[in-house]
Order: sequence, then C-alpha cells, then structure tokens
Amino acid sequence: MPQLTTIEPAKPSSFDAHHPPDKELLSDCVHCGFCLPACPTYVLWGEEMDSPRGRIYMMQSAAQGNAPLDQTFRLHMDNCLGCMACMTACPSGVQYDKLIEDTRAQIERNIPRTPADSLFRRVLFSTFPYPARLRVLAAPLFLYQRSGLQSLVRRSGLLRLAPKRIAAMESLLPVVPANFARKHPTHTAPSTTPRLRVGMLTGCVQQVFFSHVNAATARVLAAEGCEVIAPANQPCCGALMVHSGLDDQAAAMGRRIIALFEQANVDTIVINAAGCGSTMKQYGHLLRDDPKWAARAHAFSAKCRDITEFLTELPSIAPRNPLPIRIAYHDACHLRHAQGVFIQPRELLSSIPGLQIAEIAESSLCCGSAGVYNLLQPEPAQQLGDRKVTHLLATHADAVVSANPGCLLQLMSGLRRANQKEIPAFHMVELLDASIRGLSPDQLIRGGGPTLPKHRSTQPAQPAAPATPSSKLPPAQPRPSSQKPSASFRTPVESAPKPTAPQSPKGSQLHSAGSPIDPPSASPPAFA
Ligand code: SF4
Ligand code: SF4
Repeated sequence: MPQLTTIEPAKPSSFDAHHPPDKELLSDCVHCGFCLPACPTYVLWGEEMDSPRGRIYMMQSAAQGNAPLDQTFRLHMDNCLGCMACMTACPSGVQYDKLIEDTRAQIERNIPRTPADSLFRRVLFSTFPYPARLRVLAAPLFLYQRSGLQSLVRRSGLLRLAPKRIAAMESLLPVVPANFARKHPTHTAPSTTPRLRVGMLTGCVQQVFFSHVNAATARVLAAEGCEVIAPANQPCCGALMVHSGLDDQAAAMGRRIIALFEQANVDTIVINAAGCGSTMKQYGHLLRDDPKWAARAHAFSAKCRDITEFLTELPSIAPRNPLPIRIAYHDACHLRHAQGVFIQPRELLSSIPGLQIAEIAESSLCCGSAGVYNLLQPEPAQQLGDRKVTHLLATHADAVVSANPGCLLQLMSGLRRANQKEIPAFHMVELLDASIRGLSPDQLIRGGGPTLPKHRSTQPAQPAAPATPSSKLPPAQPRPSSQKPSASFRTPVESAPKPTAPQSPKGSQLHSAGSPIDPPSASPPAFA
C-alpha cells in the first residue's frame, strides 16, 4: 500500500507585501560558501549568521514564514556593512545588494528599535543628508577644533567615558575647513579646448567638509577640456537612506537630483564619492514603481560615472608633472565591489610620473567605514579600521589615497589610534590635480593635510612591503555584547567545513597575499 504524504500548506511570509526580498534572487544562492572569506563580519567573528550565506539563509527562512522578523534577525542584518565584497566573490552572481536593501527597508518598517537607537538614527538622518544643516553644525565644530578644545578633550580621556557612538563621531570628525560656508561654483569653464559638458555631484557631507576635493575635481575636469556644471542646492543623493532601509526618503532625494541634472543638460554626471555613485547608478531600481520617474531614473543612471571611470574613458590631454611620493591606494568598497571599478583608479595613478603605488594587503576587505556603519556599529568598524591601518603601515607609504571621503575619515581615525597621525590621506583627484598643476609633494601636503615628515618625503623609494603577517594584525577583540549572536538561528550549512580560497569561474579568484581575503576584480597593472 503506497504511503500517503501530507503536503503542508505554504506558510505566509514574515515579510510585508511591499518589496520583500525577491524569492528568485534568494534562490540564486547555492550555499557554496565561497563568499565567506570575503565578508568582513565573518572574518571578525567566524559566525555563519554574520556571513553572506547565513544572512541569505535567514532571509529565505523569513520569506518562507519559517522565521519571524525579530531582534535576532535585525541584529545580523544590522551587522552587515553593505560592502558588497560577497558579490565580487560569488560565482553564482547573487545580487546581494538588492536583497539586503529590500531586507533593510522591511526591518525599518517591521522591527522596532530601542528608543536610544531610534533617536540616534533620527538625529543622524536628519542632519547628514542636509548640507544647510551641516553648515550650521560646522560653525561650532570649527570653533571646537580651532580653540584647542578638541585636543584637550582627546588628551583628557573623557571620550572613553562617553557612549561609544558619540566617541566614534568625535574620532571621525574631519578637520572643518575655514571655508565651510562657501558654496561650490555652479559653472567652471574648461581651461583648454572644450570637449564635453559634464555635471558634477557636490555631495552633502562632501560639499561642506571636503570642499577641497570638489575644487580639485572641477580643476582636473576643466584641465581635461570639460565645462563643469554643479547645479546649486543639490540635496543628498539618498545613499545614506538607501543603505539604511529608508527607501521613501531616498526616492524623494533621487527625484530632486534627477530633476536638477536634467535641467543642467549635461552629457555625463561625474561623481567623486563611491557610495553616492553606486546609489545614483541604481536610481532606476529605486524608482521602479514610479511610472512618472522610472524611465527618467534609468536614463539618468546611464549617464553616471565615477570620476576615475570618466577620466580613463576620456583620452587625457592635460600633461602630468612628476609627483615623487609613495602612496598606498585603498579601494572603497562601493567603488570596487558595488560598481566594479578597480583598474581605473590604478591606471590614473599610474599616469602620474614619479608616483609609487603600493597595494595594501587584504585590499578587498572593508575598512569599516561603510556609509554610517562606523557611527552605528563603532566596535566592529574600529576593529576593521585597525586591521586596515596595520596593513597600510606595512607598505611604508608616505600617504594613503582613496576615492571616497568616508574611507578617508575612517583611515585617518585609525592612523590617529595607531599614533601615525602625520600620514596624510588624500582623495585621488587631489593627486591628479597636484600633478597637473605641477605641485611638489610638500605643496600637496600643505594644501591638504598634516605636514609630511621630512624623513618620509626625502627618502629614496622603498621596495614593496610584504603582506602583513597575521601576527602583526591587531589582536582579535571579543565580540561586543550588543552583537552577541543568538543560538536560536542555526542553518544546515553551519556544520559544513569552513570554505577555503575558491577558484571562481567569474574571474574573482581569491588569491593569497599573506591573507585569503584578496579577490582582485581583474589583473592590476604592475606596481611598486
Ligand atoms: S558565494 Fe555566497 S552568496 Fe554566492 S552562492 Fe555561494 S554562498 Fe551564496
Ligand atoms: S555586504 Fe559585506 S558585510 Fe554584508 S554580507 Fe556581504 S560581504 Fe558581508
């Protein structure tokens, strides 16, 4: 007699009906685990639930109604940096970016936060994306720094008594420029034969605290024959909101940015902040439900280019002068992993005569900045920052260079903790600008950061540093109690053997440079 099998009716999903993580995208994951060594939280804690595979498994369980949207679920999703290193490492092409963004929006709607957490986030998201509010805030911060109060507070050890998020905010505070109230010119004429008319995103934090980077970007573009249009009153692009599950606010900001640049009538929109670029290239997805804006958003996204992409696509006409300095290049995750821009910054830096470029070990691992992650999750962010700085110091570079302001702040903060505050950090357009203008390394340093120590600037070239041995990495810190995993969530794959460096069919072969965490997106040019 054949046995009868009872088919259980499908349980309702734990997600609400508004854009739950796409089941088809979830099913792309074959649970191979190749992404695990690339994931910063898995590297820190070795917990399956803090790996991409574990997070995808939790999303699947919730989608099938087998797991509730509870605090455990929120904790593991909050721990994710959104660095997208898992996407570069994944041989199956799992679109983790879409999955985590939809999941985060579900969390914000359906899982309550503690009053303190909610308040902190509200303060953050009602300040950072608004340049006018940031300018108001910049005035007392300027006084705090220039009066010497900041040095006093830092020396006093008072910050050790402050809540961790407040201490992190203070340690990440950029040097407030004296011209914080000045707005970027809306029009910059080409300084040579005109070739293109480009739009430039001025950013929210960038236009107040990194106006020198915007100025350098406009000068480089002008020197390459571009007329630069930077529309006035640009709002935040919405990146901070997208990465934090605040989709409606992000969409409203996206619409304003699109309308502003449509009016500017430009060929290309150039972006010099990696997180902003990755969001603006996804406006089509963000506004997919809006019949009035979806097509406009797609057309807009198609015009967006990171400054490094744009400059490598445009044959250079501005001569480069020597800039004899040794730098370590740090990949911003939202450039390398989210946008796949890996070769271009290296090519551009290689075009500067006399510049030595050192690769940092574990270059694909996030520095812990990740938008506002270093403010929301200061402990793991600091551990990742210290790890990055250890590798950075092993390169014996005079300066560190990146293409994202958030990474620069995170690295400077880590360098201060390592008592290496004399090593300056630059956006890579500052180096191009210095080379085109014929500045010396000392002039570059005086214009952009603390003084380059003489022993460094005059030192002959150093050989490439070997990868940092693991014994030199900062000691592993205990996992913060606020991030203790719950035993209630265990996946069938947790008992599987730990993954080793895989051979990816997509060319994202993990290679060991003293570390298993280094999947280049493509072969880099030869560097010192
Ligand atoms: S690499 Fe990670 S995300 Fe990709 S299929 Fe394997 S387990 Fe899933
Ligand atoms: S986005 Fe980064 S932190 Fe999040 S799961 Fe992927 S690799 Fe890990």
